[in-house]
Amino acid sequence: MKMRSFVATALAAFAGGLLVVPVVVACVLVPTTLKTPPTGTSIGSPAKNTLYFCPRVIQGITFPTTLTNASEPWVSGTTINIADIPTVPGSVKKKHRFSIKLTSKKRHLKGNGIPNHSFGRFPVPSSSDAYSYYAALPAQGYANAAEIPVRQYDMSLTVPRNPKVQPRPSCIESLAVGIASQTGAAIHAEVAVSADFKAVSPSAALPYDKCWGHPYAEQYHYHGFSWKCFPNQGKKGEPSPLYGYAADGFGIYGPYSEGPRRGAVTGSTRKPITNAQLDECHGHYGWIRWDGKKKYMYHYHTNNEYPYTIGCLRGKVGQMSTVMRQLGH
Ligand SMILES: [Zn+2]
Repeated sequence: MKMRSFVATALAAFAGGLLVVPVVVACVLVPTTLKTPPTGTSIGSPAKNTLYFCPRVIQGITFPTTLTNASEPWVSGTTINIADIPTVPGSVKKKHRFSIKLTSKKRHLKGNGIPNHSFGRFPVPSSSDAYSYYAALPAQGYANAAEIPVRQYDMSLTVPRNPKVQPRPSCIESLAVGIASQTGAAIHAEVAVSADFKAVSPSAALPYDKCWGHPYAEQYHYHGFSWKCFPNQGKKGEPSPLYGYAADGFGIYGPYSEGPRRGAVTGSTRKPITNAQLDECHGHYGWIRWDGKKKYMYHYHTNNEYPYTIGCLRGKVGQMSTVMRQLGH
């Protein structure tokens, strides 16, 4: 793992002295590898380093309860080598709509599912290195998964404004597990089905576009290291900012956690958070910035260890639009 700091310093000559323009330092974690789960990892109960995926039957076939590691060229053992993954090319811009409305009790997230940044070309161009991986996958209503376009859809999620941790974590029902509020696009659970009906980590099995996004059922969404495209990465030495909201209303923050000091959103650990420091849902308690105030509450973090965003849901899942709720059934 390496860290890249963007430092912009400007000095301007000033009559009789120097005017120093404030230094802007952003801190972006740029992982070179991701940790992916080995074959046989259970997705049937809440545990660290995996997902807790609700059992389901798809077209009469029981969905696997363990993961199978993909053997794509960018996977070696339980390591994904990011530099070796092909990219779905393109820089497509589409009309983006997204808003968050707050009431005293609720948070309403609503948009057309199109991110505020440009994304890859879907259907996947047959000339690209990514094409064969998509073409090998069947897709309902299409010749294969390479044919799936990105279209706008009813992306909506209503959650409690101040969610409460439930006695037991919930399994992941819909593939849509959250919304990146920085960009207005959905975040999906890190599980997919292979051509031979195995449950796989999508980041080990499929190339994405430059933002680690792609469509499922025509809905553009993120996986793995997608947070590279989120515009606000935070400042060096400070905890990562909010990236989005999970399906239960808790916040999803970047890889730099707030420190252990109580009472202040300061004291970043300065090192990206690891799964060992997070619970089985990929979250923990801490002092975070929440609706402009400091608050000690539960939240999730992104990092480069599977499942990268959310492993299970510690709160009650809110209300999703039908097209989102039905994903993966
Ligand atoms: Zn934290």
